[in-house]
Amino acid sequence: MAKVKAIRGMNDILPDVTPVWQYLEREVRAVLSSYGYSEIRMPIVEQTELFKRSIGEVTDIVEKEMYTFEDRNGESLTLRPEGTAGCVRAGEEHGLLFNQTQRFWYQGPMFRYEKPQKGRYRQFHQIGVETFGMSASDIDAEVIMLSARLWKNLGILDAVTLQLNSLGSNESRLKYKEDLVAYLTQYFDQLDEDSRKRLDSNPLRILDSKSEATQAILIDAPVLSDYLDAESEEHFTRLTGLLDHAGIKYEINPRLVRGLDYYCKTVFEWVTDKLGAQGTVCAGGRYDGLVQQLGGKATPAVGFAMGVERLVLLLETLNVIPETEKISFDLYVAAETKESQASVMQCSEMLRDSVPGLRVRSHCSGLKNINAKARQTGARLILLLQSNEAGVVGTLWNEAESFTQIPLNELSSVVAEQWQIVKQS
Ligand code: ATP
Ligand code: MG
Repeated sequence: MAKVKAIRGMNDILPDVTPVWQYLEREVRAVLSSYGYSEIRMPIVEQTELFKRSIGEVTDIVEKEMYTFEDRNGESLTLRPEGTAGCVRAGEEHGLLFNQTQRFWYQGPMFRYEKPQKGRYRQFHQIGVETFGMSASDIDAEVIMLSARLWKNLGILDAVTLQLNSLGSNESRLKYKEDLVAYLTQYFDQLDEDSRKRLDSNPLRILDSKSEATQAILIDAPVLSDYLDAESEEHFTRLTGLLDHAGIKYEINPRLVRGLDYYCKTVFEWVTDKLGAQGTVCAGGRYDGLVQQLGGKATPAVGFAMGVERLVLLLETLNVIPETEKISFDLYVAAETKESQASVMQCSEMLRDSVPGLRVRSHCSGLKNINAKARQTGARLILLLQSNEAGVVGTLWNEAESFTQIPLNELSSVVAEQWQIVKQS
């Protein structure tokens, strides 16, 4: 019988890669906690209406990428394509946003019906940050600084560049939109089909078009930064000042707009040239209008989301994952003789009790070729139990030397000592 396969674009993340994911997630958690951010967990499914109203009807996501289905009671539901909408919905629903400042983060799977390729999947994972209630550009700077700190800790700062732009206020964009439409209308016939449709409904999104012909026409188009209102300009200058002060390099990219409707003022992306076409590893910006757009009181907000798959690919490409993160245990415990086999479990448990944090894997199958097998596991410490006249004894290998005939009552201290040495090497 034919076997059932996974859905195209929805990947299994296998045990040989999960240590890298866990490493990345752990580093992210550490950075976020050092900035005092709190985790929020939202459902994966929301009412379709939420995404239509927040992301915008005339966007790639809502037009053609959502996994939408009817619940058994006929309600239209959607697998979340991103986390911001759900986060705002949850924050509003539980009264966490109005008149308060909040710093949230979340992680989890997102779903978009896209053409699967390297760095682009139908189920992918984001770690996102959303902050509320802060209108000054200090918070824009903070979320950028924390992402820069994360890249530094992961050893990838040199491989990413920060692109920055300001979209201005909704009002200042209106005048820009008019001029952009007037300009593009002259080239209507040469625009790609999506862009033609958007000329009326959402012209700004044309700037984001992936069509080369459209991008060529855009080279001489009016530039948004020439239309900035005074307040947005001041906001942006203050932000770049803070980044300069923090020593964070950036490129101002006047064509950077985000794919979603709700952004204003600051937008940014961290991009790499190491991953081919899917080079954006983290993207975000300010979205002061969204809370109100979803029925709440006006609340300033800034956030970003990073693509976990792309970051994992980047870590692998740059070969910056510490060796110790690639294996899920430190010590492998096995028996060499039948008589000592019964002590494997007992010994492993004793070591878990006495050496906190030590990751112990116990051998649970036959004795054949045990020496070679234990080595193949890649563990940095191997403990083989033997038996002599006095009872069970152990031989411990670190990567360089071995310690033989260790009696059971001395095992804990020898293992603890060797583990310290191995950890520091
Ligand atoms: P792109 O232009 O690459 O389609 P986007 O603007 O649609 O990206 P966002 O909605 O801003 O992406 O999502 C934030 C981040 O999530 C992206 O920068 C990327 O790292 C990641 N991401 C988005 N879509 C996918 C996907 N289909 N597969 C894997 N990662 C993704
Ligand atoms: Mg996209």
